[in-house]
Amino acid sequence: MHGKRTIKNITKVLAIALSAAVIIGLGALWSHYSKPQPQAQQVVANTEPVIITQPITQREQPKAQAEREFSLKEITHNEENPIYVTKNRKGENYIVFYPETQVEKIDHRIKKDLDYFEDRCKELKGDFSSVDYQALENGEGLISLVYTLSGYNEGGEVVDQDVFTRLFKQKSGKELFQHDVFKDSFFETASNKARLEITEQVKNKKEYDTQAEAFLQHTNAQSVNYDRFSFDKNGVFVYIDSNALFNVSKEVFSVHFKWEDIKEELKIDQNGKRKPKKEANALPLDVKDDGTIDPDKPMVALTFDDGPAVHTEDILKILKENEARATFFVCGNNSSAYPEILKQMVDMGCQIGNHTMYHSRLTEQSDDEMSADIEDLNDIVEQATGVRPKLIRPPYGEIDRRVRSNLSSYAFIMWNLDPQDWLYRDAKKVSKHILAEVKDGDIILAHDIHDSTAEAAKKFIPKLREKGFQLVTIDELFYYKGEAMLGGESYANME
Ligand code: ZN
Repeated sequence: MHGKRTIKNITKVLAIALSAAVIIGLGALWSHYSKPQPQAQQVVANTEPVIITQPITQREQPKAQAEREFSLKEITHNEENPIYVTKNRKGENYIVFYPETQVEKIDHRIKKDLDYFEDRCKELKGDFSSVDYQALENGEGLISLVYTLSGYNEGGEVVDQDVFTRLFKQKSGKELFQHDVFKDSFFETASNKARLEITEQVKNKKEYDTQAEAFLQHTNAQSVNYDRFSFDKNGVFVYIDSNALFNVSKEVFSVHFKWEDIKEELKIDQNGKRKPKKEANALPLDVKDDGTIDPDKPMVALTFDDGPAVHTEDILKILKENEARATFFVCGNNSSAYPEILKQMVDMGCQIGNHTMYHSRLTEQSDDEMSADIEDLNDIVEQATGVRPKLIRPPYGEIDRRVRSNLSSYAFIMWNLDPQDWLYRDAKKVSKHILAEVKDGDIILAHDIHDSTAEAAKKFIPKLREKGFQLVTIDELFYYKGEAMLGGESYANME
């Protein structure tokens, strides 16, 4: 029933709505929505609830909407079906106002949230409930939707209120969650400011005790207390409902943080891009950011060990045909034998890492042997390509504290997806394994010394591209995922 939001349906609902109680409720809604929201900057006007009390002919000419100026073009009201009216289980009417954007992902999320609102409205106290929203844009490509869920009594007073938020990147529609946005240090700042400001706002209200346990608990520096938030042009709002703080459920508090004051406590910049972690010992990343990789889309790093070998050229060819890159962890003898393949890798934008001169267990070598094993191979690679590797893939995945500290100017690159190509030597099986398991941020292990792996690559590389995966080097994976690469650290994937 709630999927259909046609004028005809609204006519039916109008008949239902013409009960005295509801008219009072609507009157209250109207006065509620007429009030300007004090803090949040509203860039899209709400659909006037009064519209439902007008004759239907007038509703079909949405003059008010045509005159409206949207500063945010990507968000427009669904002019044909601007509202969503239905009955909850108790047989009460409720109204949901929601935006319709032109971004498929966001609209999909909004439609799903309507189902949540339907359930939530059943729980709200009062005789009538509504969901209203504000769309905020920060001018840098982030859209916040802030929904206010309200329950009203017959007299039209708000008796219950809750708030619900979503944050999206405007262009891609990618949703950003709390853990994408805030560093842990933010919650301390949020706690201090929320306590101060809410105490100030409620100082004359006797039923609000800002020394009570509930208030202190729900304003402490835990992430769970600040999971509703929005971005506007000047900074960030967090929202807390009075029910949690005072067991008086009729108000939502918003606390604003200026961008300048909290930017160091955010993981993203103003356009939602993850900021690379600034670490003193971070290794430089060799990335040519030419706009061809979309950080919001899934990506994986293919890695090939033990080569180069004759089949490596087949793999390079299939990579090239699919606008893909990989990282090759090479060994000594093979590198000496095929310097021109190393050169071809670098020319194609692929990355070369160090798999040791003699494929030896680093943990079993003396400090000097270990260094020589790495540096001798690096000399060969540098001579062939002009680039000196900074990544190590330890043979057999074996490292320990001594290896890390001896080779602390290198990053150790492990893997999280292993199709065991060296064991099965079966192109179909290997390809199937990768395609079945692959997910965003994976580092995939394979070996370019086997012809079966080169055969598998002909299958899984085009299929990964079809599935929407961008195939990037290890450095690119770190760069686009906004992670710092630290010397002496090991990494298996980048979620
Ligand atoms: Zn190996």
